[in-house]
Amino acid sequence: MCIFCKIVKGEIPSNKVLEDDEFLAFHDINPAAPVHILVIPKVHLENFQSVNPELMAKMTPFIQKVANLLELDINGYRLITNNGDDGGQEVPHLHFHILGGKKLPWHRFDDANPKEAI
Ligand code: AMP
Repeated sequence: MCIFCKIVKGEIPSNKVLEDDEFLAFHDINPAAPVHILVIPKVHLENFQSVNPELMAKMTPFIQKVANLLELDINGYRLITNNGDDGGQEVPHLHFHILGGKKLPWHRFDDANPKEAI
């Protein structure tokens, strides 16, 4: 069982922000910003590529509710989902990172080349 499924089952503790029947939001254990929340579906899906539109239709307002609850809607926030190896995904259970609490820097890669992008 993956680590986030264990959090859903309560086998691993988490610092919960919001929960309903289908989704859970909790604080990231190793925050990358002053506010760093993870939002997951309770059902195990590997990543964004496995998501169906019906689930996203419900997950979207849940994420917005978390942002409202933490008042991140006022000054803004960043929403990220890492997909697979190149995306830097470490936990193979779909999750959205909500990052905020300050003006976040935007990293650009030195080898970014729009001419080579398809
Ligand atoms: P990703 O690299 O997109 O797969 O992100 C995985 C995130 O899960 C990282 O930011 C970790 O800090 C976080 N994480 C891993 N284990 C836990 C845990 N037990 N509780 C809260 N966050 C965790």
